[in-house]
Amino acid sequence: MKIIKKITEMQRLLIDLNLKQVGFVPTMGYFHEGHLTLMQQAKKDNDIVISSIFVNPLQFGPNEDFETYPRNESRDIQLAEKNGVDILFMPSANEMYPNERMVTLIANDRTDVLCGRSRPGHFDGVLTVLTKLFHIIQPDKVYFGLKDAQQVAVVDALIRDLNFSLELIGIPTVREDDGLAKSSRNVYLSQIERKEAASLYKALKIGQNLVVDGEKNPDTIIKEVEAVLTNETSGSIDYVELYSYPALRPISVINEQSILAIAVQFANARLIDNILLDENGNNVNRFK
Ligand code: AMP
Repeated sequence: MKIIKKITEMQRLLIDLNLKQVGFVPTMGYFHEGHLTLMQQAKKDNDIVISSIFVNPLQFGPNEDFETYPRNESRDIQLAEKNGVDILFMPSANEMYPNERMVTLIANDRTDVLCGRSRPGHFDGVLTVLTKLFHIIQPDKVYFGLKDAQQVAVVDALIRDLNFSLELIGIPTVREDDGLAKSSRNVYLSQIERKEAASLYKALKIGQNLVVDGEKNPDTIIKEVEAVLTNETSGSIDYVELYSYPALRPISVINEQSILAIAVQFANARLIDNILLDENGNNVNRFK
């Protein structure tokens, strides 16, 4: 595996890869099985797998966890190599953003709800960094986790609006045995919070089962999920919302592919999770 820190070096290397099919897995590092699953799928589908580790300052708000975001470069390098990554791109913040930026990308659809509403500017930062990474790496396929389903919806819009010639692959959420979605931020849960955090997925499943049993009213499902989270966790609910997916439009009746999504703020970690459902409440494991 090659480790590359400079953009120009990455671009030079790509010339040698000409005509090879490239799969790209962008990440912020501190790898867990979720990341590794994306890499393994990319390896199956492509000739070359490129992954990036970049904790993107632009996508963190002023009171968010940019400084304390967990990092472990040497462990990540070993894991990437073991899981099929051919090239690991690890630019510094200065390499990615050397000057004052004159062009700003603004996400103006699919972002007025969920994390887009709670984290103003977050998806603008995501769009900016991904646009740069897509230009630098020029992949054929890009791999994203459906754990961050709103991100997948926003990247889908980015690819379409800016005419990137690449295919977006959404990978189902990888979970711990008790259902908690794997996340780099889980290390910041206390022991008690870690136990409580299993209730996020439990609450989603209870919401899903209501749909399976015939409940079509999003408000009823949202209330039930909120009740589970309130009773079973000490965290504060940031949101429990239900929309069409991937358009992320409000719906009054569940009669199309939808997302039931939650965010809970614990003392030192904000956790998100979601389930994608068809109109009968069955799991959907792809993005569209
Ligand atoms: P991050 O490093 O958190 O930015 O995540 C990098 C990629 O891994 C994103 O596309 C995430 O959606 C994906 N990812 C993170 N956690 C999981 C998970 N538990 N299951 C599947 N994909 C995940």
